[in-house]
Amino acid sequence: MSNTIVILGAGESGAGAAVLAKTKGFDVFVSDFSSIKPKYKELLDTYGVEWEEERHSEDRILGADEVIKSPGIPDKAPIIRKLKEQGTPIISEIEFAGRYTDSKMICITGSNGKTTTTMLTYHILSQAGLDVGLAGNVGNSLALQVAVAPHAYYVIELSSFQLDNMYDFKADIAVLLNITPDHLDRYGYDMQNYVNAKFRILQNQTGQDAFIYWNDDPIIARELEKHPAKATCYPFATDEAPGVKAYVKQKELVIETPNGIFKMEQDLLALTGTHNRYNSLASGIAAKLLDIQDEKIRASLSDFKGVEHRLEKVSRVRGVDYINDSKATNVNSCWYALQSMTTPLVLILGGTDKGNDYSEIEELVKKKVRALIFLGADNAKLHAFFD
Ligand code: ADP
Repeated sequence: MSNTIVILGAGESGAGAAVLAKTKGFDVFVSDFSSIKPKYKELLDTYGVEWEEERHSEDRILGADEVIKSPGIPDKAPIIRKLKEQGTPIISEIEFAGRYTDSKMICITGSNGKTTTTMLTYHILSQAGLDVGLAGNVGNSLALQVAVAPHAYYVIELSSFQLDNMYDFKADIAVLLNITPDHLDRYGYDMQNYVNAKFRILQNQTGQDAFIYWNDDPIIARELEKHPAKATCYPFATDEAPGVKAYVKQKELVIETPNGIFKMEQDLLALTGTHNRYNSLASGIAAKLLDIQDEKIRASLSDFKGVEHRLEKVSRVRGVDYINDSKATNVNSCWYALQSMTTPLVLILGGTDKGNDYSEIEELVKKKVRALIFLGADNAKLHAFFD
């Protein structure tokens, strides 16, 4: 086992990983190239973890037996390149935390809908009285919870960046919502690299484990043909079809699992829109596989409050609805947002271009959008496409 662990990045995941590593008796050093938030400095100090900010002391970092990298640091960062060159193992905080817990892991990934599905699943499990923690991109870091306040179950939102550095970790229940182009700037503009990262959610699963995924996603279907899943599969879709375990039939959600068949009127779902029907089906399958009572699943699917900044109605002023969907950070999520709109729109777009292809939303923009507003550092591509 390695003795010296260096942690790169002292945000939620890095600080949590440092605390866990320290409590397990490692020599721990935390290095962040930016400044560290006061609350994380305090946490590190409380546990006697050495840290530095606004620099990387290379000698120390390159001397590590193992490195835990924040998902925010790209592989092309010079320090990561050097570590890779010399063969130092680099893992994610989730991978590290997974070594110290046998709790049941419900892991959720996809290009879109991760946070919503994670929060919804967590809501169902916690309302049903399970001892459950929320981790990954939302909630507290898994490592910190494992170190100081362990739970029997964890619902974990996993980004492709976290999955990139996961090797031995296993999800008891894995959810893959969809795969559409995103973050290509971090994957050498090669879609397959991004797809491979997402599919890491399946690694180490056995027939005892469950894999929940969207049956109609062409990319997922193609990958599963190449590498069939070892886990027991629970695909969901809009309509009933051979092999599909969760679907909508005559305005009723139907979920078929070994724990029985769950049914619920679609109109009672708290979250609206096609995309949220998928998210609700995915959460419902996971809950049913954990044998949560039907009435409890129904109650939580119908009283969930939604997550802020996701198609969030901010207010209505003189008959105009203002909707904050700022968490729709790729072209496909924008497509679903546009699709669910029923009135003429002013659409505000912007941010960093991640290798976007706007042709996916061209038709909906033509049909529904009266005016476009472009913000952000790099909107030349938006002008070139839409002007
Ligand atoms: P993520 O965590 O993957 O970024 P969120 O749950 O934060 O996803 O949702 C971000 C946006 O993506 C939402 O505002 C909505 O526009 C869109 N979205 C949510 N769920 C889905 C889905 N299943 N498929 C496609 N788009 C979705």
